[in-house]
Amino acid sequence: MSTTPVAAPTSERPLPIPTRESQPYWDGMREGRLMLQHCAGCGKVRHYPRPVCPHCFSMESTFKKAPTGGTIHTWTVCHHPFNFFFKASAPYIVALVDMDAGVRVNAPLRGVNEADLKIGKRVRLDFEPVNKEVTLPFFVSD
Ligand SMILES: [Zn+2]
Repeated sequence: MSTTPVAAPTSERPLPIPTRESQPYWDGMREGRLMLQHCAGCGKVRHYPRPVCPHCFSMESTFKKAPTGGTIHTWTVCHHPFNFFFKASAPYIVALVDMDAGVRVNAPLRGVNEADLKIGKRVRLDFEPVNKEVTLPFFVSD
């Protein structure tokens, strides 16, 4: 007789698993650079990395270094994190940012008081090394 294992709540930080398409993005993070995917067919930039261009359906692309500045499009203050790991950090802010490079990126926003949040506020992307392989993005006030 076998039983199905039940996962207990864990405090391990959830980390991304790079794919063939996203590896250049994560390599850039590790090197302190925002690398964005550009379509080789129509030249449009896209984020998150994916195999097919949503504009022209080309499967060819290249990654280019992008500026790290942007403006807040919107944000949420997380009081009830979906993952147990983030419980200790709650409440925390996650911002959706219109990057100067022309894409939207969401990431935690640190060092900003909730009362100071404003649509259009300038922020910049910074880099948090988590381990030898993974560096995660976060935003700070610019
Ligand atoms: Zn395209």
